[in-house]
Amino acid sequence: MYVYADNAATTKMRQCALEAYAETAERFFGNPSSLHSTGQAAQEQLSACRAAVAETLHCLPKEIYFTSGGSEADNQAIASAAAAGARKGKKRLISTAIEHHAVLHSLERQKKAGFEVDLLPVGTDGILELSTLEKALGDDVALVSVMTANNEIGTLQPVREIGALCKARGVLFHTDAVQAVGHLPVDVGELSCDYLALSAHKFGGPKGVGVLYARTGAPLTPLIEGGAQERGKRAGTEDLPAIAAMTAALREAVAQMPIVTPRVSALRDRLIRGLSTIPHSALNGDPVRRLAGNVSFCFEGIEGESLLLLLDEKGVCASSGSACTSGSLDPSHVLLAIGRVHDVAHGSLRLTLGDHATEEEIDYIIEAVKEVVGRLRNMSPVWRDLQEGKRSFIL
Ligand SMILES: *Cc1c(COP(=O)(O)O)cnc(C)c1O
Repeated sequence: MYVYADNAATTKMRQCALEAYAETAERFFGNPSSLHSTGQAAQEQLSACRAAVAETLHCLPKEIYFTSGGSEADNQAIASAAAAGARKGKKRLISTAIEHHAVLHSLERQKKAGFEVDLLPVGTDGILELSTLEKALGDDVALVSVMTANNEIGTLQPVREIGALCKARGVLFHTDAVQAVGHLPVDVGELSCDYLALSAHKFGGPKGVGVLYARTGAPLTPLIEGGAQERGKRAGTEDLPAIAAMTAALREAVAQMPIVTPRVSALRDRLIRGLSTIPHSALNGDPVRRLAGNVSFCFEGIEGESLLLLLDEKGVCASSGSACTSGSLDPSHVLLAIGRVHDVAHGSLRLTLGDHATEEEIDYIIEAVKEVVGRLRNMSPVWRDLQEGKRSFIL
């Protein structure tokens, strides 16, 4: 059996997105900035996509800026708010310890430029407490950035309440909604956010395209200089086929959500129940306040990377959800932030289900993980020490 269970890393493109891509590339190849009819036909398609994306987010078309993806959108939101803050003498940026690196590294850059950055802790459930944010807020804060849903452990943050609090205090609020858009209803009015980032390849669109929502009046400075595209805020000829494919994918994802979410949540819970029967294992993140397709576990006494390789041999594509995969030996900052100790955080596994996952696939994954964890534990010196009482179990 082949099971792709790494949909938080990227998704397969939807058929409707592939078709929109091919059709747009063929029929609307003009440059939307050209004045002739071929260019204007492309411009019309671009406007239609902008309007459709705005409708799904419940905002105005002029508040939508097409970007090269989630990372660029996060970078631009943070750079823009920081530049505006610096002009007003606001030199503090607030975020959480579990953000995506697109946010964390952007904040790191601002820190080098003289900003103070507060990364707020989350609970062992992976959720930021509102009171923690409330205490951290002050007149010197240029931006609060809190993700809508976490990419590793799937936890959902109380973004509505966070948005309301920021609005009441007059502080700009950005949310990285890359894991949420196309999977949960997202309404920028309900979130009271000034900026929101989304990425097409997380909901069945192509890679290399995304959106920055910036509320009318929110400070916005370009990262890329050049032409006057995107109302002067993002230079470069628009990738219209990719934008059209993203739009088609987003519309379909939103339309199917009422059916897909309960179905995938039930499969997620079946997977969680099955993996919980493995001794000395633990679910990462809140069991309920999490993305429909996210299952993240730690297994004591094993290395996540070996687990992934053996699962791949059995046809299961998964992720450790940790930075180890990128060649670093540091365990995931997210798992450390929810209180997992280094040894335990190293034995992590993230399985992220797609819209078309089936019960048979879930049962296959459960059996495969049980078998592979057992095999790795039998070879593990750490596991032997745990068995012999030379070390004590944490999970
Ligand atoms: C994937 C992801 C990003 C980056 O998006 P790209 O389009 O790949 O640049 C940012 N934030 C989160 C939470 C993500 O999951």
